[in-house]
Amino acid sequence: MIRKKKDYQSIFYILFTLLVLYLLSPELSSIAKEEPVKPNKKLVVIDAGHGGKDTGASGVSGLTEKGITLKLALILRDMLIKKPNLNVLLTRTENIDIAPEKRVSLANSKSADIFLSLHVNGSFDPAQKGIEIYYYSEENLELFLQASPGQTLSPKAESEETSTLISTWNEAQNAFIPKSLKLAKILDDNLRKLQDLEVRGIRPAPLYVLTGTTMPSLVIEAGFVTNTAEESALARDEYLKAIASKIADGIGEYFEE
Ligand SMILES: [Zn+2]
Repeated sequence: MIRKKKDYQSIFYILFTLLVLYLLSPELSSIAKEEPVKPNKKLVVIDAGHGGKDTGASGVSGLTEKGITLKLALILRDMLIKKPNLNVLLTRTENIDIAPEKRVSLANSKSADIFLSLHVNGSFDPAQKGIEIYYYSEENLELFLQASPGQTLSPKAESEETSTLISTWNEAQNAFIPKSLKLAKILDDNLRKLQDLEVRGIRPAPLYVLTGTTMPSLVIEAGFVTNTAEESALARDEYLKAIASKIADGIGEYFEE
């Protein structure tokens, strides 16, 4: 009888351990699991902005951009891989530093069909809030610099030799601007279906991570971590899931058209 009780206890401990492992598994699997590639399918590269020493913007409660973008990227990946026509690749699945050029060259070398770089905004004005979508463009540069002083822009040439290289790099995205804009409009329409969420619209900007990509590419700024209400919303998985599901719907629609 005592022995049976011990057996019962050890089964309980095994089940308890399995439960703990299951609860931890979204974190573990995101690092360990490479999704099997579905042939002849579209490839979406999702870039979780910042990482490692580069925390990005942060809010008063200590929530960081690098953490939010990684969580959102993992949620979005899990939604997109359920679609039969899509493969998904993340530029990072851990808290690590990656240079913007590496994020771009990964998307280019894998011949991605879409490149989405996820970010969260920061502002000196705590009243600023809402989601916005950026596509690559040199227009409105001055306005953009005034509104977003901390952004990493495409590199400027320091000599004539580097000038040709950099302009070739800068021009790579130009051919894809119409398609980037088309994708931006679809995503913007879908995000507007969410209630209690301000959608600020689609904006052009010469962002570094959009420079040099050879496919439709966007930066999504998924809210302002410097706005206290949005910071507490961005800390909730349900909120990130709501945003991710609209982005996933939009990507599905983009490939259907
Ligand atoms: Zn950012």
